[in-house]
Amino acid sequence: MITDMDEGDMVLLRTRDPESVPDSCVVERLDLLGEESLVLIRPECLRELSGQGHLAIEYVKKRYVYSFSPVRGVKCDYCGKFIDGKPIEVEFMGRTLYACCTNCERDLRRRVEGVEVR
Ligand SMILES: [Zn+2]
Repeated sequence: MITDMDEGDMVLLRTRDPESVPDSCVVERLDLLGEESLVLIRPECLRELSGQGHLAIEYVKKRYVYSFSPVRGVKCDYCGKFIDGKPIEVEFMGRTLYACCTNCERDLRRRVEGVEVR
């Protein structure tokens, strides 16, 4: 319901054509199994949507937005990819960072160690 929208509400687009959404509109993109993706976009971008294969459009409260990432898992802190399965954990100053693969783990450790030296 558009009249019920608060400042900061988002639009969740379920689509087979995520590439047609302009990058500047994409808040978060989650590729599902198969050919579908969930793309979180800013509501003001709705009118800019073109392309085929949009399956559903749904308004979501901003406070719910962050609840859908952990369902799928965490993002790699190096390349930003969603991690399927168990992430590789890299400890950094009391925080846990995540890597999706050993290549990212190595590069992430290298970056983290570079930060620590400074
Ligand atoms: Zn990665």
